[in-house]
Amino acid sequence: MAEKEHHNKKFYHLTRLERLAQLKAEMHLSEADMAVLSGEKSLSPVEADHMIENVIGTFSLPMGIARYFRVNGREIPIPMVVEEPSIVAGASFMARLSLGTGGFFAHTTAPEMIGQVQVLDLEDLSSARMKLLAVKESLLAEAAKVDPLLKELGGGPKDLEVRLISESPIGPFLVVHLIVDVRDAMGANAINTAVERLTHRVEEITGGRVLLRILSNLADRRLARARVTILKNDLAFDGFTGKDVRDGIIAAWAFARADPYRAATHNKGIMNGIDPVVIATGNDWRAVEAGAHAYAARNGRYTSLSTWEKDANGDLAGTLEMPLAVGTIGGATRVHPAAQANLRLMGIDSASELAQVIVSVGLAQNLAALRALATEGIQRGHMGLHARQVAIAAGAKGDQINQLAEKLVQEKAIRIDRASVILKEWRN
Ligand code: NAD
Repeated sequence: MAEKEHHNKKFYHLTRLERLAQLKAEMHLSEADMAVLSGEKSLSPVEADHMIENVIGTFSLPMGIARYFRVNGREIPIPMVVEEPSIVAGASFMARLSLGTGGFFAHTTAPEMIGQVQVLDLEDLSSARMKLLAVKESLLAEAAKVDPLLKELGGGPKDLEVRLISESPIGPFLVVHLIVDVRDAMGANAINTAVERLTHRVEEITGGRVLLRILSNLADRRLARARVTILKNDLAFDGFTGKDVRDGIIAAWAFARADPYRAATHNKGIMNGIDPVVIATGNDWRAVEAGAHAYAARNGRYTSLSTWEKDANGDLAGTLEMPLAVGTIGGATRVHPAAQANLRLMGIDSASELAQVIVSVGLAQNLAALRALATEGIQRGHMGLHARQVAIAAGAKGDQINQLAEKLVQEKAIRIDRASVILKEWRN
């Protein structure tokens, strides 16, 4: 272990090809996976043409590996697909701090998704509700017919609820919730097919008219939860004591807890960790985003998805709970070659384990942002990387990129106009 950690510590000092070689050895990946992960042989335009409409090509993003993540006792390299600098470094740094207490501990609830059926044109809403609930078992059996495989795997329709929406711009109506255990799928197709199947029966039983039949992205039955403890002494750096940093982080979190303006940015910081892994595994990040923010507002006021507090030893304890509708089966996870390779890279083959890893990365990313904000400020660490992007945007190439970035940071003028002027001077 000590040797492996030593090995990992230098990951960011390695060249890109050395990093690939190290991961190949560590996770026993094939040459084919390596070609996909390096980007040499990823999603082809021909494959892409089968995925969406009117395809003309593909669009690339950087993929980096966050290190030091130990989730439920297992060390896992984390692939992150993202355009923003500092995210991979921030996640890795916080994951390293978490090793003092064994890393992240995560679990998930059952992979139950909700499908909604809107029933209109009813006078006797309460009676219609009772009639539906009375035949719940037969409705569940009907819905199960569309996906025998899912049922065989232990999933399928599990419950049915009927909600009465008493106030809406078109007056009152009923909503049927079909609860389906989708196992290792994200579940949108599975759910949508099942609720469409119920249309006829629901109209027959209630005498109403079914309009919408669609998945809800507020997947509040499919929660992923992570917790982490950071030793107070591990939080100290530069002139900051561990206690200063700990209390600063708790105060920063309290701000997000109490104020939606802050909470939006706080949760965005969490999603900085979540989305890159969701994307790297071919999952639907809009669905995950929608679920996260709706869940953050579930009590009527938008608030923080995470909590930060002091434990009995004076150490910093964090938790994150959010819906995470991600799959390892179906959708783009099966079609995109990099999504498959990334699951092998992480050694993951179930949706629940994937969600446990992703929620842990979200918690780490949250900590990275709060720690920076509550101490030196976000810009100091960010500026060097930002300066590199500005340098590239101004036209710097090769070694010039770092030279120009350093100069911009020195001058405290990280602007593209200044970068262009310096480049011009150098070229003359
Ligand atoms: P899917 O329909 O492609 O695959 C799920 C099916 O695979 C199951 O129904 C089952 O028959 C089979 N299967 C085999 N092994 C399984 C296992 N171990 N666990 C579970 N199922 C197994 O995929 P999906 O997840 O239902 O649909 C995902 C796609 O739907 C995504 O691409 C998403 O973008 C899209 N989508 C999203 C929304 C939304 O979020 N509102 C709406 C529509 C579509």
